[in-house]
Amino acid sequence: MESLSNRKKEVSNKEMTFLESIYLPAVFSGMSKTLKHAFRKPVTIRYPDEQREFAPVYRGMHVLKRDEQGRENCTACGLCAVACPAEAITMTAAERKKGEEHLYREEKYASSYEINMLRCIFCGLCEEACPKEAVFLTDRIVPTNFERDTFVYGKDKLVEDVDNRVDITKRQNTGKRGNK
Ligand code: SF4
Ligand code: SF4
Repeated sequence: MESLSNRKKEVSNKEMTFLESIYLPAVFSGMSKTLKHAFRKPVTIRYPDEQREFAPVYRGMHVLKRDEQGRENCTACGLCAVACPAEAITMTAAERKKGEEHLYREEKYASSYEINMLRCIFCGLCEEACPKEAVFLTDRIVPTNFERDTFVYGKDKLVEDVDNRVDITKRQNTGKRGNK
């Protein structure tokens, strides 16, 4: 049959020479390659002590944003869950009660909101779909863990702290949202 790549080699059953049979040339050849790489600048980094700089369009762990007054933006409309191709988002909607106006911006809010980080493919479609600017992907990395259950992130991990806001200006300045 005609060769497609011209890279095929005929396998030969010829007897090995004495030098080949003691494998020393092959060992030295392997060692020389190892030594050559040992003195090169490493292409890997010592993560997590060192971290690479991410591109502005990098999409990492989500954040549920609050408004300027510290109220949760999310109104539990479910559009992010519908847009999610990985079916990673689930939520429960609840009605805001009297006296809770300082907690939730809208009359309806998410009493629970969960993202399964093992299902998520970090496509950003939830962010695109959200009409309330409530969910954003950030440049934060989802921490590793040995337990699968711990990757279902609830509001305790997703909603930003009132006193420790998550900066999403880089995400907003990628041009997608008209540099708001
Ligand atoms: S980033 Fe994509 S896969 Fe992940 S939760 Fe959002 S829509 Fe779903
Ligand atoms: S994050 Fe946005 S799209 Fe998702 S439920 Fe809340 S308001 Fe709706």
